[in-house]
Amino acid sequence: MDDCLFCRIVAGEIPADAVRETDRTLAFRDIDPQAPTHVLVIPREHHRNVAALAAADPGLLAELVDAAHAVAQQEGLVTDGSDPGYRLVTNTGPQAGQSVDHVHLHVLGGRRMTWPPG
Ligand code: 5GP
Repeated sequence: MDDCLFCRIVAGEIPADAVRETDRTLAFRDIDPQAPTHVLVIPREHHRNVAALAAADPGLLAELVDAAHAVAQQEGLVTDGSDPGYRLVTNTGPQAGQSVDHVHLHVLGGRRMTWPPG
């Protein structure tokens, strides 16, 4: 997808601060972090949102979640218990705040999270 920002990051056309890469996934720091750790985890392949990815390739969705957990471990957000923990967010559609139509998981952590989200 020529006009997709995250496809262009995958292609190396736009720089990103990558923290983890696999054959099928890429994780990089969000340009506008909302927490001390804020990493975006994406499939290299373009899917417009998480439901589209689940329908097209459920195995890749599982890889994406595994990659997000590995990032949280790398960032020191996973210990032997449930603390400190991290939040995984995937916004779907404009009302939820999705601004990039290439599925991505936000890995957020390093501060206490509030609920409900804004
Ligand atoms: P969404 O709003 O779709 O859930 O999340 C998109 C995220 O992409 C936002 O948190 C935004 O800060 C981030 N973002 C937008 N443009 C760029 C960019 O060029 N580089 C990086 N690393 N993050 C970006």
